[in-house]
Amino acid sequence: VTSQKKDRRELPGDRLGSLDADGWRSYIHPARIKGYFHTRRVWFQWFLIAIFMVAPWLKFGGHQLILLDIPNRRFAFFGVTFWAHDAPMLVLVLLTATIGIMLLTALFGRVWCGWACPQTVFIERVFRAIEEWVEGDHLARRRLDQADWTGVKIQKRGTKWVLYLAASLVITHSFLAYFVGSDRLIEMISHSPFANPTPFLFVMAATAVILFDFGWFREQFCVIMCPYGRFQSALLDDHSVNVSYDPGRGEPRRGVAPSKEEEGDCINCYRCVQVCPTGIDIRRGTQLECIACTACIDACDDVMTRIDKPKGLIRYDSLKGISREEKTRYFRPRTIGYMVVWAAVIGLFGYVVTHRKLIDVSILRAKDTPYQIVSNEAGDRLVINHFRVDLSNMGFADESISLELSDAAVARGFEMVGQKTAARVVAGKHERFDFFVRFPVKELREGVTEVDIVARPSGRPEQTHRLKVVGPFK
Ligand code: SF4
Ligand code: SF4
Repeated sequence: VTSQKKDRRELPGDRLGSLDADGWRSYIHPARIKGYFHTRRVWFQWFLIAIFMVAPWLKFGGHQLILLDIPNRRFAFFGVTFWAHDAPMLVLVLLTATIGIMLLTALFGRVWCGWACPQTVFIERVFRAIEEWVEGDHLARRRLDQADWTGVKIQKRGTKWVLYLAASLVITHSFLAYFVGSDRLIEMISHSPFANPTPFLFVMAATAVILFDFGWFREQFCVIMCPYGRFQSALLDDHSVNVSYDPGRGEPRRGVAPSKEEEGDCINCYRCVQVCPTGIDIRRGTQLECIACTACIDACDDVMTRIDKPKGLIRYDSLKGISREEKTRYFRPRTIGYMVVWAAVIGLFGYVVTHRKLIDVSILRAKDTPYQIVSNEAGDRLVINHFRVDLSNMGFADESISLELSDAAVARGFEMVGQKTAARVVAGKHERFDFFVRFPVKELREGVTEVDIVARPSGRPEQTHRLKVVGPFK
């Protein structure tokens, strides 16, 4: 332990690796890494960036693939349209995402953070790449940090931040397209910013936040601010798979072991620390700061290959697996519980989506006397029933909806009476009106009979509603 403390690369035990002794930010420049997981992460994360950039420009079922139109409180997701007041849909979407993340965390730890979180994806693939391209590798960047403000440093830093700004603007404009729609985004870009002050201010504010966060704040967000990072430890158990160091194999590490023969496989090269973007030493065990980026796995595997030892001293494994107590169990009460609830929520969501009508027509008997008796000019007794119709339009276009009696009902002498038998329903709104059904008393069988009303939304399939009409028993 004494020799460990003397090593200048050893991290302090009383503070974050990204802070100095006075509590100031100590900027982390992780070393460049190559390896099995790195290659897969690069491909996967560029795939995610491509989806993020392209999705607002794709249409599905006549709507933007993903649209989050918050000002107008309407949303589209793979052809399914819903509104903010469409509570079951919103709740189910949020529940699906939340339970999915809970299940993923219980099974594979913080895999979301390392592979798919936008923070990691954009920092690693875009901002760190720009930094490396302009300023060089981690050693060159560290030297530049410590150098005086010469012309070269000003030029390098200036170039880097101009490129950061350009990247941030591209990201925020793509981001804005999710909220205002890609068609409207093009229209906005082609006009002066003063023509659309609110979106313009949104883009400027988002650009500033992205510049600050992806350009400078970086791992500090994951370490001290991310709410998911805070509660993810509550979702883990001893069978959750994490990026883990195997102390049983690695310890006592070189420099700590009393003799060479007693040394474990860890040669204490600190390569795993050098590549870590949050500045931690995974050999100290699972830590809140670890975003499971797998960089230390690739780094250590490379070291193991060079010293002719098996890979996997740092690997994806659970606490149980690492301690060799038992094999990692993926199916355990916690994960089975999440799976069951998740499947139920997805099933319910699927049911709601497939059984949901964009135009909903609901007809109920009005709350007054059940019927009235009138006579026509010929002296025939006619019965009148009073109904109320509620029309909801969950689509994104205004709809005209008319109500008519079925042909069979007309043939039996039924008539619709009232000032209104049709209505125009604005997208996302409801309409309500009353109507009356008049019919010969002879149509009744023991005081009751049924009649079909056909609702015809413009350009959509008609809906037939069977109503019970009542009248005198004899
Ligand atoms: S990279 Fe591997 S061998 Fe080197 S210090 Fe880390 S765990 Fe030990
Ligand atoms: S400890 Fe390893 S997996 Fe965790 S953040 Fe650091 S390099 Fe990534």
